[in-house]
Amino acid sequence: MSYLDTVESQQGARIVVRGKTYLNLCSNNYLGFASDARLKEAAIAAIEQYGVGTTSVRALIGSHSLHEELETKLAAFKKAEAAIVLTGGYLANMAAIQTTIGKDDIIVSDELNHASIIDAVRLSGCQNKFIYKHADMDDLRRQLPKIQSAGGPDRTILIITDGVFSMDGDIAPLPELVVIAQKIGAKLMVDDAHGEGVLGSHGRGIVDHFNLHGKVDIEVGTLSKAFGVMGGFITGSTELITTYKQKARQFLFTNALSIPDTAALIAAVDILTASDERVKALWDNATYLKTHLQKAGFNTGTTETPIIPVMIGSEETAKLFGEKLREKAVMATPIVFPMVPQNTARLRLQPSAIHTHADLDEGIKAIIEVGTELKVI
Ligand SMILES: *Cc1c(COP(=O)(O)O)cnc(C)c1O
Repeated sequence: MSYLDTVESQQGARIVVRGKTYLNLCSNNYLGFASDARLKEAAIAAIEQYGVGTTSVRALIGSHSLHEELETKLAAFKKAEAAIVLTGGYLANMAAIQTTIGKDDIIVSDELNHASIIDAVRLSGCQNKFIYKHADMDDLRRQLPKIQSAGGPDRTILIITDGVFSMDGDIAPLPELVVIAQKIGAKLMVDDAHGEGVLGSHGRGIVDHFNLHGKVDIEVGTLSKAFGVMGGFITGSTELITTYKQKARQFLFTNALSIPDTAALIAAVDILTASDERVKALWDNATYLKTHLQKAGFNTGTTETPIIPVMIGSEETAKLFGEKLREKAVMATPIVFPMVPQNTARLRLQPSAIHTHADLDEGIKAIIEVGTELKVI
């Protein structure tokens, strides 16, 4: 048997894993788009008309009108000048960082930034790296003199942060980062993977949430989470996006997004542009779940988003908690060291817009039962 949990159904409020149906409280399907009828129809219609594959990289003959439509609509949705779509958020971070930064440039990064940012910084070959304590602007300010005196002549300083931190659900202090970046002449990049479709009006993301349009140079997003399909993108100035289309190796040397993926994503952007109904339902469910767990005595940490950690502490208890929930047909991922610091193990819950309150009640009941049994509450 494989160590992977194999899903045998669509991704919905419930999933079937190896023959058993579970309440799904741990997917990134924030808006329920992964199995949405409108996305499916768009993908099927596009397949009928255009086939499935694009058979080439974008720079050769793989660029389809659907890609252009998606990029135009994404840029408009994000209120940015331009957008480039890649086949993953991981690759989008690689492209954004490797194309912008070289050996003598300077990178400034939050210590809890996503693995794809860490890998991209390595790939860039950058020799001047400064890591600040998580979301700690005092720590960053203390390091500014060293940051400003590092690097070669004409060096670029790039400050990089996740938008929403995936283990705690807290939001980056973006307004303060904008001020600091302006002060030292740095570029600012945010990876909004868990903020896309979640934060801001209609789910436009963290920049919209803080009303900082035009003040963040590079916005990276994923199409694999709330957007429900797969892929990644970068938005920014027309000049920046043109540079990526000409130079990013992750754009030039790997195949374009497939036809059904692209068509489904256009439908997702159209839906979000037209209505914020799903985003509102997501937040309503997140508040419902969080409040009920807090009332029952659980510690939900520092979350400000629909990522809801249930803090447990011990690694063993967290794993046992996850197993016991599974016995009760509830799927919720235990997160343990090294994903989070030792003795801060937790369950990570992620409600979706498509859960009903009755679904959540069932989850809450099971979590309270197991929490009581394991003396977490
Ligand atoms: C999920 C995630 C990614 C990777 O996105 P994919 O589209 O799955 O490659 C990148 N950055 C952050 C912060 C993420 O949470």
